[in-house]
Parts: sequence; C-alpha cells; structure tokens
Amino acid sequence: MAKARTNHTVSFGGTTVAPGQRAIINLPLARLYTYDDLSMPVEVINGRQAGPCLFVSAAIHGDELNGVEIIRRLLRHSAMRRLRGTLVAVPVVNVHGFLHRSRYLPDRRDLNRSFPGTERGSLAGRIANLFMREIVAHCTHGIDLHTGAVHRENLPQIRADLDDPTTAWLANAFGVPVLINATLRDGSLREAAMESGIPMLLYEGGEALRFDEVSIRAGLRGVLNVLRVLGMLPVVRSAQRTPAPVVARSSSWVRAPESGVLRSALRLGTRVHKGQTLGIITAPLMDMECKVVAPAGGILIGQTRLPLVHEGEALFHVARFTSNDSVAEQVEALHESLAPAQPEDEVI
Ligand SMILES: [Zn+2]
Repeated sequence: MAKARTNHTVSFGGTTVAPGQRAIINLPLARLYTYDDLSMPVEVINGRQAGPCLFVSAAIHGDELNGVEIIRRLLRHSAMRRLRGTLVAVPVVNVHGFLHRSRYLPDRRDLNRSFPGTERGSLAGRIANLFMREIVAHCTHGIDLHTGAVHRENLPQIRADLDDPTTAWLANAFGVPVLINATLRDGSLREAAMESGIPMLLYEGGEALRFDEVSIRAGLRGVLNVLRVLGMLPVVRSAQRTPAPVVARSSSWVRAPESGVLRSALRLGTRVHKGQTLGIITAPLMDMECKVVAPAGGILIGQTRLPLVHEGEALFHVARFTSNDSVAEQVEALHESLAPAQPEDEVI
C-alpha cells in the first residue's frame, strides 16, 4: 500500500463520520400507508487513512437475498479495522420490495430500471434519486449485488462493461471464473453510476428468496478482493491465487420445446456439448417424453429450479467461451474451495 494520508470526515444523509469511526445512518423513504416511518439503512465505515470510497449495495430487487448476507458478513469481517478510505454498505436498497419479498416496488416498478430518477417522480424514481444523491454522488466506485430471479439460479458471475478499463480491472480482481461483458441496461443503477463517472460491478449468484452458501462466499471474497486491489485493504500474501476469469463470448437460453414436467440433474458450471440432452420434459400421466437438447456447446451459467414448465420458457442459460474446458475446471475449483464441508459449518 502507498504511503498513508490521514482520511477526512465524511457526511451521508446529514450525519458526519470522522476518520476511524463507523455509523449506521437511516435515509428516510416514503412512509408506509399505515403512517409508519420507513428508512433505508446504511452503514458507513470511515478508515483512519485516506483512500477510495466504495459503495456495496444489495436487494435493489427486494427478493434477492444473497447480497444482504454478503454485506452482513463484510461489515463484521476483522479486516474492516484496517480499512483505508470509506466503505458505504447498503444491504437493502429496495426496502418496500424486501418487506413484500418481491423484486418490485408496491407500484410494480422495477427499481433497477428507474435510475437516475427524479425527486418528483414515481416511488421508484424517488428512491433511485435518493440513492444517487446520498450514496453514489459521494463514492468513487461501486458494487451492486444480485441473484437470479425466483426459481432461477445463476452461477456466481460478474456482469460489467468490460470495455471500460477501470471496470474491467475491478471485474478481473473480483475473482469469479465467469465474466459477462454486459451492455448497460436503460434505467439501471449501473448505467446511472457509469454516467456519473463511477465504475461499477454487478455480481450475480444464486436465486431469489434463497441463500446459497457458495454464492455468498464467492461474493464476500470478491468484494474483499476489490477492496484489496483498490488499496483499501492490505494485500494478503498467503491468499490463494485465483485463476484469471474468462469472458463469455456470448450466451443464450435454451427454451422448453414442450409444456410439461422437467427432469434434469445438471449442476451450474457444467460443460455441455452441442446436441447433449440437458433435460427431459414429461407429462404427469401421458406417455410423453420430450428431450431438451443443447443447440450449441458451452458452460451452464443459469437454470430454472422449478420443474413445471410451459413451452417457450427459458430453462438453461448456456454461455460460450473460447476455452469451455478451462472454465469448467475453474468453476469446479471454486465449488471445492467454497462449498461448506458440513451442513453445520454453514452458520456463520
Ligand atoms: Zn437483481
């Protein structure tokens, strides 16, 4: 780490946090119609020494829970005592959706399509505006934590604009095997942050409304890796070297050719071959069997977890890499290093 400079006092939501202090700040949100107050909780850790200011956010989609747990573990990590710069942790951005166990806001809007928002806009637009004004505007870098949708699991992966050199550098440092060069979505936090000049990563792992231990551990390790590469934490020399991640050349969903009940036993990260049977769709009574065949080879990076499917439904997300075999090996290594040995190990 470079020679330390003393940090300065920071201010979030009108609360000041001196160097060497941490504080929980509640940003007021639209109150509930029961007339109860509601707020977005934020924890700020301000290091003694100066450095970048990183926000880590989760549950912009209110049912995506792995990130909430990643932030809980991050805030309790012993390394936080040696933090340089400022960490701004927002474990639940979409508090309304979190309360309803829903991806959306009560008006059915998607908060991650409502950025940068306006002060006088929709409920989603107002929350987006608050987040931009009170969090993003004060930060230099960001990581937003997501999961797959309900009944859909994602292999731990980073989605980022890899054409931006700083973003690509952070994406590589995160240390998951798979990177997706994702174009910016209209109205997403990632787009709004990039337009404000804040490089931002989006991490995906696991499925909505569930905890997935490997995705949580991979996400926590990734955030710590980014803190290290930014010089906000000391580099750990003994840390296991993670192989360089691989960027997917393209990806596509294999859809159900028929409605029915899907049988499949594929694990995320598996290498699939062109023409391989990924699953079989059957009917509860009729003598019907319909194979779901991979139209191209690649690595399974997402899949449905619900066996009840309609024709046309997205079942298997297959990404193509220049070297599919090496990605499959890296994913296997990730599972081996992060999977809990015993179920009772899982409670941390
Ligand atoms: Zn999401």
